[in-house]
Amino acid sequence: MNTHFANCDRCGKAILYGNAFVSISRYVEQIEFSIARNRIETQPIDAVTIITICAACGNVFDETTFRKILKNSLLTDQC
Ligand SMILES: [Zn+2]
Repeated sequence: MNTHFANCDRCGKAILYGNAFVSISRYVEQIEFSIARNRIETQPIDAVTIITICAACGNVFDETTFRKILKNSLLTDQC
């Protein structure tokens, strides 16, 4: 049985099925209000994993740090 899921994009360590990992993905979604259901609905259009990193590497960065890194690079002309 194959237990290999991926390799960490940061350190190269194998990520096996059953291991925790952190991924950053790009989602394209469309949000709309459904009159029939009287609620906001989100339709996924596309989803792609950008990076996959092992739990050890991923836990170095908390959500706030990831947000700062992405905002600093994506919301400026630094790309
Ligand atoms: Zn790693």
